[in-house]
Amino acid sequence: MIDMTEIGQDKVATVHYTGTLPDSGETFDSSVDRDPLTFLVGHKQMIPGFEAALMGAKVGDKVEFTLAPEDAYGEYDEEGIVSVEANMFGDITPEAGMVLMSDAGPFTVIEVEGDSVKVDFNHKLAGKTLHFSVEVVDLRDATEDEVAHGHAHGPGGHHH
Ligand code: ZN
Repeated sequence: MIDMTEIGQDKVATVHYTGTLPDSGETFDSSVDRDPLTFLVGHKQMIPGFEAALMGAKVGDKVEFTLAPEDAYGEYDEEGIVSVEANMFGDITPEAGMVLMSDAGPFTVIEVEGDSVKVDFNHKLAGKTLHFSVEVVDLRDATEDEVAHGHAHGPGGHHH
């Protein structure tokens, strides 16, 4: 029997993907050589353009698409760069390049000048156009629990 299931709202999709930066050709993320990615469709688990490009795809389909920043990680926001006091870091000695987690989300340390630390709350892919090559490897209906929780369960999902 041919499986006519298509990616859509409340489906659980498993995909292999490779994301590259069109300008440099650099691969910024890839599931190839590791477990594929499983996600619940339509619950903001993924960046918006990623799901939109995969709508209607079936198992075995290979989809290539390019996303503008607004469909990916957003435009780069200059106001995302702020200065904080070094003592805010507690036991951590901040150094340029460190990626740390805060209540307001992850941020990158840009520069340390004495007691003043310049940090950037922009996602490292903010402001970038992204190219994705995606292969759909599995697809099923979500369970009621998954829809209620807003994420996929089982291999590649949450609480194994
Ligand atoms: Zn759950």
